[in-house]
Amino acid sequence: MTPQIHLHVLASGSKGNAAVVEGPEGSVLVDCGISRRALLGRAGELGVDMDRVVAVVLTHEHSDHVGGLSVFCNRFDGPLYATAGTVAARRYLTELPFTLVGHSDEIEIAGMRIRTFPTSHDVADPIGLRFFTDDDALGFCTDTGELGAEALKGLMGTRILALESNHDERMLAAGNYPAYLKARVGGARSHLSNAQAATALAQLVGPDTETVVAMHLSQENNRPSLCVRTLAEAVRARVAPGDDGRTEARTPDGRLTICCAAQDWPLSVF
Ligand SMILES: [Zn+2]
Ligand SMILES: [Zn+2]
Repeated sequence: MTPQIHLHVLASGSKGNAAVVEGPEGSVLVDCGISRRALLGRAGELGVDMDRVVAVVLTHEHSDHVGGLSVFCNRFDGPLYATAGTVAARRYLTELPFTLVGHSDEIEIAGMRIRTFPTSHDVADPIGLRFFTDDDALGFCTDTGELGAEALKGLMGTRILALESNHDERMLAAGNYPAYLKARVGGARSHLSNAQAATALAQLVGPDTETVVAMHLSQENNRPSLCVRTLAEAVRARVAPGDDGRTEARTPDGRLTICCAAQDWPLSVF
């Protein structure tokens, strides 16, 4: 594959999510769950030009994914895409001029095609996304309790794979969450655990896969080092020597890197 699609994660986690997928002819903002000020600040840190954003796509209606959208749209008039279920679930979303997409659909934006696929989450009609051109592909999937056949197909073999790795199952079980919340987070319509993401990686990583970005890490029930170690084991990657934070791993041939996105600082993958 030839790199044509780049990922800039501006924020990832239960306090707010936003990512910019940069394509050959513009960029797409995926979710807008942080303030406009934070969005522009983090984009500035990465050197990402938000004027190149030509469209917004929402994965689902939870406020950590849509909370900043109304204000963002005060100064943005490009197309907004979401499923009908997502739009109908929040009154302020119904007041914005959405173009509706299905959960097994294909649209073309910014010189990229985007294929949607259903995810499994406790909301109306959530989606994950595969961005691709003839020469490159990026898979994006967060907020899903499991990966169904369509999701696996959508994420298979991409050069960049942004995949939820929300919690460590043992930390969740031993942690302070009340029982109902433990059941929710660990449930089939909630969030992928490190172990689930690791199992999926064995299927999803292909010969063209260069970077796996662990997404939407829980601040209570996960640690970046634990997450990276769990994912690394699944693809025989090793934590990079000298990486004191132990938040990055690489396969011995150097072809595949595992890293994680954070709630409070941005990350670019080229
Ligand atoms: Zn979320
Ligand atoms: Zn959610």
